[in-house]
Parts: sequence; structure tokens; C-alpha cells
Amino acid sequence: MQQTFKAIILFVFICVTVFVFPSCKKEQKRSLYDLSVRYEDGKIDGKLAYKFVNTYNATFNHVVFNLHANAYKEGAKYRPVFKNNEEKAYPSGVNYGEISVSKVSIDSSPAKYEIYGDDCQFLKVFFDELKKGEEIIIHIDFITKIPNSTLRLGENEKGINLADFFPVVSKIQDGKFLEINYSPVGDPFFADLHDYKVAVTVPSQYTVASSGFPTLTTVDGITTTYSYELSMGRDFAFLLSKDYNVSSKTVDGILFTYYGFSGEEEKLLDLAIDCVKYFSTTFGDFPYKSLSIAESKFILGGMEYSGLCFINCDTPTDDKKQIIVHEIAHQWWHSAVGNNQYANGYLDEGLCEYSTYLYFKNNNAKTKANDMVKSAKSGYKSFFSIEETLSGNVNTVMERELCTFKNEFEYTHIAYNKSLLAFVEYENLVGEKKAIENLAKLYKNNLYGEITLEKLIKSLGYGEHFNAFAYGKVLI
Ligand SMILES: [Zn+2]
Repeated sequence: MQQTFKAIILFVFICVTVFVFPSCKKEQKRSLYDLSVRYEDGKIDGKLAYKFVNTYNATFNHVVFNLHANAYKEGAKYRPVFKNNEEKAYPSGVNYGEISVSKVSIDSSPAKYEIYGDDCQFLKVFFDELKKGEEIIIHIDFITKIPNSTLRLGENEKGINLADFFPVVSKIQDGKFLEINYSPVGDPFFADLHDYKVAVTVPSQYTVASSGFPTLTTVDGITTTYSYELSMGRDFAFLLSKDYNVSSKTVDGILFTYYGFSGEEEKLLDLAIDCVKYFSTTFGDFPYKSLSIAESKFILGGMEYSGLCFINCDTPTDDKKQIIVHEIAHQWWHSAVGNNQYANGYLDEGLCEYSTYLYFKNNNAKTKANDMVKSAKSGYKSFFSIEETLSGNVNTVMERELCTFKNEFEYTHIAYNKSLLAFVEYENLVGEKKAIENLAKLYKNNLYGEITLEKLIKSLGYGEHFNAFAYGKVLI
């Protein structure tokens, strides 16, 4: 192609961009985590430069960060695990983690800050008035002690689970920071979307699985630094192991990587790719440049992070497949379309269970799909009758905060099983084709935003049906 011709095309392109699509001129700025961490001997030494871009209709004189790692400390009130589950959480005996903040500064000057809450779980950093459109960079130095555990933050025989380890900005709602306490049940999280630039330095024998797209690897003798970027992430996490088998492929411009221990990595990677293809054509585009599925010794079946899924390595293969599909569905329902997982965890969990059911039903595993519904129904019914016999008072409300759940048994039946049944019942009412069409509408209408029950009903219709399920007025 000749240069002149190129110039004409470029001129036409600029004109079209500026005059026909004026909104394309400038992408909206987002707040950014610039995080640099070093793992060594059971602890993380971290430096965070948090660029807060005020895109809200409010003026701020502080930012609130959640110090999730303090849920892991001795004597914490809002703990990450129930007492009866401690043996699974701490295979080598109960022990503790925590985060300590050593320095907070703004523009190289020390900043005023306070750490507060029953477990010192919140950090508030003060500054002069920041109006809409203005930005500020807050620097926080911290050290996080990692407990020996199988929790979201934990070191164990298989590797290191690295979530909950850095200061995470609290969700802003109506111009205010929400202060959400940790919880031993469910996922006590709710966050705005951010961009991330993250570098992690580890002893070179570790392989790192991460939320971000890899941008640079630097080997410095005994340590290696991996750099990543993630755009529009709801959160960011890592898994580290010395024993990973890694299988990787780029399909449709997305980098897929499976990190496992069983020798089945290639097969499970193909499942992940197939699953992303199905959800992309069913609901809408996958939101990231990469997806890592990584196994670990983990107390739950799995856990979702933007661009990264934790999968419990001790799960039998057949169950593992179901967990993989469920956690991948969270990339749509949690990451791209968020919700308050503390106040209405049944929304993303139910949508992911229903998405898993749809995947199996439409990908040669009809029996598995039917079994999911059967087991949700029988599980929920037995929960209902046991609770009624024991207390005579069953709380079947789905729309309620995590702190109201007595145990994992109750949460599983309400947020997963009952919620799946609400969506399957909806499909029975409108037909699968319409149900899928409306889910795609839900995705499109709320992409990079958050949903509530009200917003769900706006896209799916059948308000009476969903309200009856959510507020406990349905007999199953
Ligand atoms: Zn889930």
C-alpha cells in the first residue's frame, strides 16, 4: 500500500471517528491499581499506588480501603471460616495472617489516615477536596502475613492462594464508601471496576497463575518478576505453585491457560475454551484478554476472580468439570456484570448455576443438566424440612445479607439451589429460547455495571415470579 493512499485512509478514519462517533474520541478514565508485590517466606511485601479518578457525582475528601487480610488475624470478629470448618481450613493447625500498613503518602508527602473497625479491617486515607473529574494517587506500603491454610489467602502443601492480600477500595454507592465486613459464608465482596497494573516477584521455582494478561517476565537470578495488566477488573488474585503442569492456547484472541496437578490439564483447558465459546455466543463477549483456570488446595469447590478461577484440586474430575463451568460463568455474572455479593449473592450464584445447567443441556450432557435440577430440588426440600423440624422457622428469603446465614448448608440451599430453581422455573414459563434472549439482554444492559433484583426483572420480566422466590413466598 502506498503512503499517500494510507494517509487518505487515515484522514477518512479520523473524520469518521471524530464527526460520526464523537463519543469514541476519549475513553472514560478509570481508577487504577498499580501494585508491586514480592512473595517471600510466607509473607507479601507490597507497594500500592492507587490512582483514584473521581468519576462520581460527588466530591470526596477520603478513600476507604478494605483490609481483607485482617479477617485472618487472631481474635478477628469477622472471620473467614466457621469454627466447625477449621480442620479443613487449617490442615496444619489453626494459625493466623494479617496485613499491616507501614506507610501512606500522597504526592510523596505523608498522608493522614486511620485504620478502624472491630478487626482493623478498614483504612481511610484523607486528602483535600477531590471534585468530579479530578484524580489523586495514594501510595500504600504494606506487609501481609499469609496463614497456613486452604482459604482464599493461605499457604499449603500445594502452593499459595493469594487473594485478600492487598488493600482493596470499598465500593462507592450514592457518593459513599460501603463498609462490608468479611464473612465465613459466601463471598463478602462488592467492587467497582478498575484497571490493574500488577507485578509480582517470586522465588524462580514458582509458577504464577494470575488474573491479568502477562506483559513481561524478568528473571533476576533466584527470583522472577511477572508483570500483568487487566482492564475493567472487578478484583485481582494469584495462585502460586512449584508443581503446576501448565497447558495453554490462544483462541479467538483470548489467552487460555490451565494450571493443574492431575495430568488432565489439556482436557480441562479444552472444556474451558468450549465453555467460553458457548457463553460468548449465548450471553455476549468474554470481557478479558486472558483466562486462567488454576487448581489449588482450597476449602471451597472454587472461587471466581476477574480473569482467574480457583479450582479445588481435590475434587473428583466429574465434579471438577461442573465447578470449572460454574466459575467461568462468573466472568459474565460477577466480573462483567457485577452485583453486591454480600447483600444478594443469590443473583450471581443463581445465574452461574443456571448458566452451567444451560451449558450442559446444550453441549451433550443433558443428563448432567437434569441431575443438577433434581439434586437442587431434593437438597432444598430436605433443607426445608430439617430446618422446620429443628426450629419450626425456616428463613427462605434469598434477598438478605451474608451475616444472616447461620451456616454454609443454609447458604448453599438458598443462594445456589433455590436460585437455580428460580431460573429453571422461569425457563419453564417463557421457554429456553426466550430465557436465553433475555439473559443476553440482561448482560448487554448491565455490562460493566451492576445488577440488583429490580434490574434483573427489568431485563427478564416476570417480576412476580422472581420477587416471590427472592422474598420466600414460593413453596418448592
Ligand atoms: Zn459461584
